[in-house]
Amino acid sequence: MLELDDVTLCYGAVQAVRGASLRVEQGEIVTLIGANGAGKTTILRAVSRMISPRSGVVRFEGRDLAGLTPDRLVRLGMSHCPEGRQVLARQSVRDNLILGAYVRTDKDAVQEDLEKAFQLFPRLRERASQLAGTLSGGEQQMLAIARAMMSRPKLLLMDEPSLGLAPIIVREIFEIIQGLNAQGVTILLVEQNAHLAMKTAHRAYVLEAGSIVAHGDAKELAGDQRVRKAYLG
Ligand code: ATP
Repeated sequence: MLELDDVTLCYGAVQAVRGASLRVEQGEIVTLIGANGAGKTTILRAVSRMISPRSGVVRFEGRDLAGLTPDRLVRLGMSHCPEGRQVLARQSVRDNLILGAYVRTDKDAVQEDLEKAFQLFPRLRERASQLAGTLSGGEQQMLAIARAMMSRPKLLLMDEPSLGLAPIIVREIFEIIQGLNAQGVTILLVEQNAHLAMKTAHRAYVLEAGSIVAHGDAKELAGDQRVRKAYLG
């Protein structure tokens, strides 16, 4: 479904990612783990075309994404749930969700999906009229996921969904991630919490200083001595 082929990504003169190649097959949860600054967020930004590769190709369903705008990608079936959640603080929970469906013209189906979002996240229903900025961190993360789902993505890009959340909320969020995957959503997951990420994902890639240094079945990688030592403590 998604393929990066020898992709190099730069911020001005700073090379953040060097020659990265990775694949995400339909139906998978694939995780990208690595230390702070390894380049994980940068790879997600390149997939959703917030930055263009210096070299290499990013393909979604076989199509080279060069030149496509982020909103075109949403129409093609990709949705990005960014780090730090980035909900619209001064808009209500309901308006944030409806905004997630901005590329859709099937208004009746949008209302049905809003209802589905409230079923999946009852806490958001209780707070539908509340300003998003007044939600707790965990609730904002739920809102960010629910909003990303409102475009009916085939591929969901998730950046650090556990960041800053209490362990009990993190478990809840990860159960939701697995539930979405069980419903057929393919997921590329960037996570600092390598334990949880490896437990949740089918396959994993390890990024070190901008280069992919290991990849494979998540359970096998979690048993790898070097990976255990560096990332699983
Ligand atoms: P973290 O887990 O801390 O979020 P990360 O693996 O997601 O880290 P990135 O945010 O992708 O790492 O950053 C990769 C490298 O690119 C870092 O060295 C970072 O300082 C640099 N970088 C990121 N964003 C910019 C930017 N806008 N301008 C310049 N350099 C940047």
